[in-house]
Amino acid sequence: MRAVVYRGVNDLRVETVPVPRIGRGELLVKVAVCGVCPTDIKKIQHGTVPPPRIFGHETAGTIVRTGASVRQFKAGDRVALHHHVPCLKCHYCRHRAFAQCATYKRTGVTAGFEPAGGGYAEYVRVMPFVLPGVVKIPARNSFEEGAMLEPVNTVLKAVRRLSLLRGDVVLVAGQGPIGLMFTRLLQLQGAGVIATDLLESRLKLARRFGARWTWRGDDSELSEEVAHVTRGRGLDAAVLAVPSDALVCQAQGWLRGGGQLLLFAHTRRSAPAVLDLAAVCVDEKDLLGSYSSDFTLQAEVARLVFSRRLDVRPLVTQRFPLEQTADAVRLASRPTPDSLKTVVLPA
Ligand SMILES: [Zn+2]
Ligand SMILES: [Zn+2]
Repeated sequence: MRAVVYRGVNDLRVETVPVPRIGRGELLVKVAVCGVCPTDIKKIQHGTVPPPRIFGHETAGTIVRTGASVRQFKAGDRVALHHHVPCLKCHYCRHRAFAQCATYKRTGVTAGFEPAGGGYAEYVRVMPFVLPGVVKIPARNSFEEGAMLEPVNTVLKAVRRLSLLRGDVVLVAGQGPIGLMFTRLLQLQGAGVIATDLLESRLKLARRFGARWTWRGDDSELSEEVAHVTRGRGLDAAVLAVPSDALVCQAQGWLRGGGQLLLFAHTRRSAPAVLDLAAVCVDEKDLLGSYSSDFTLQAEVARLVFSRRLDVRPLVTQRFPLEQTADAVRLASRPTPDSLKTVVLPA
């Protein structure tokens, strides 16, 4: 089969590799769609993990073969995959810190080499421990909608970390695909969302996704807008879907006492940012992070996406054949005014 193999920093090659062999409790899935995720881009461009690997973990496709002991699925089922599933039994899982669970950290979907998702290939092997995360895609929904379950899950998990009441005002900084998902999920929870971005095209979409206020450009004037909208009280929460350290400090200042600041895009380790820690101690402003998905939310995520209460279809804007995966990664790493989610279509 054809697969895109990571051979080193910024070196993705289309190669012929064996179709994965599956064991008794496993599935073989023909990949229809795989989303290009910023975490893969980071690994490809910064070489944070050793090659060779086949990346791609926002995967949907059709089951073509099942292992002898698999009962719940059959060949022909259209499915969305989940490459990380926690054990639900360990110390971390009992604390719902699923992303820290040792089982969760293993990758259970592969197209060969060290398991890394494998979605940039024609076929993937799905291992037994991630089978509970496989979701059937309803007939009326597309593979692309199925492939969005994983990113939507990571966003819903983050939203659940916030303690919000109806009518609260929340800032969502950055209206890329992830920011837009935040905007919609927060609106569904009854929050009034202030959406910010540098691109007017994205703010237009943010309004469609439920933003009550939108803001483009200068952040110093945004302070006045926040004060105006919250009648001087400050934000109940701010979600940063952009990795700006300067914005962390600013957004902390825009929170009301006891408000929450959630970091979603600060995935690169760097020098410590200078924060006013008395704002955390005395003003009780929580600093939160959220990373990766929560398996226990998967059924709810599937309902939100497949019912289209969170309609992810406008988020997929660029589609590439498997051979052009390197171009897809390049575009996704430098979005244009009209590009949002980029996907690879191996089939
Ligand atoms: Zn992802
Ligand atoms: Zn666990």
